[in-house]
Amino acid sequence: MIYLDHNATTPLDKRVLEAMMPYLTSFYGNPSSLYRAGRIARGAVETAREQVAALVGTHPSQLIFTSGGTEANNLALKGLAATLPVGTVAVGATEHPSVLETVKALKKFGWSVRTIAVDQNGRIDRAALDRMGAGDVRFASIMLANNETGVIQDVASLAGILRAHNVLYHCDATQAAGKIPVDFSSCGAHLMSLSGHKLYGPKGVGALIIDRSVALEAILHGGGQEKTLRGGTENVAALVGFGRAAEIALDELEQRRRHLLMLRERLEHGLNAMPSVTIFAQQAERLPNTVQFGVNGMDGEMLLMEFDRRGIAISSGSACASGGREPSHVLQAMGIEPSLARSAIRVSLGVSNSEQDIARFLAVLQELVPEREAAHALGIG
Ligand code: PMP
Repeated sequence: MIYLDHNATTPLDKRVLEAMMPYLTSFYGNPSSLYRAGRIARGAVETAREQVAALVGTHPSQLIFTSGGTEANNLALKGLAATLPVGTVAVGATEHPSVLETVKALKKFGWSVRTIAVDQNGRIDRAALDRMGAGDVRFASIMLANNETGVIQDVASLAGILRAHNVLYHCDATQAAGKIPVDFSSCGAHLMSLSGHKLYGPKGVGALIIDRSVALEAILHGGGQEKTLRGGTENVAALVGFGRAAEIALDELEQRRRHLLMLRERLEHGLNAMPSVTIFAQQAERLPNTVQFGVNGMDGEMLLMEFDRRGIAISSGSACASGGREPSHVLQAMGIEPSLARSAIRVSLGVSNSEQDIARFLAVLQELVPEREAAHALGIG
């Protein structure tokens, strides 16, 4: 299989599995136990905390482990809503469902939700954000990098606008961490979500970074773990894996970025030669591994299935939205025409992809798009 869906999830790095194995076998102690086996597990959890904190340039004491990006987003948004007077929360129009659905759930508790528009390249409308900030917005959630288009927001400047209005800022950095440099303190956010399985770590593990100045209410009450913000016995092996994956990501960030960019450029060169293809958000700064595009007159889900039949795994948008009939909310927010949005395909590259994978993908795409255009793209029409 040629796997081109790394924004959905990544394979586990062998070095990560190696680091995890002892905690799935020999070292089974509970980190809260006081005897030696417990202390070994506790030590492993704290090392993982240091490793993940280092990836995003923060102090380990500001990091709470969760069961993933979804839980980190829930904890941030529900946790803030529970401590602040009821008011308005602002969210970017292209946020992940784990943010959009969470703020929708806050409506039951009297909160109003305002959506911050994006331009045709998926970038947050700064003037709209500034106007909103001046209202009764208490906190805002704007992602660092979008899972579908790969669009990277200028979060430091958006945080500046929000801070000027005393609005607390949560940043979902799930897709960015491990792909581009992420620095919690210089990005200006009060809260930041991360996930293990987007950076060659295990699934079902994530983290929320919480600035010392921010008070949060727990959503999972229990045995007092994670500074009482997230009760439940720690998933030690998964945390160890997340830590090791973060450590490797930090070490290899530049090398990965260069490799992915080289592949993306090849892919986009091929796509730009096909008249029926429109690359979305091509003018915006994007993740080095992500290209989302529409193919005029085609259906994205149909293309996905055809690629699958030929042993290539791609997405037609976010994995969570696959199977839905509505065109992607991200592309809709960018003002992409619904028929073109329905033809969307997302290719998200990973460290083990090669130039041959790109060549094969382009060859299959040319086989699938209407013949006239394929011939044209190949220079024989
Ligand atoms: N936010 C974004 C931007 C994502 O892409 C994802 C994963 N699709 C999540 C949050 C949720 O992360 P997890 O799968 O770890 O719950």
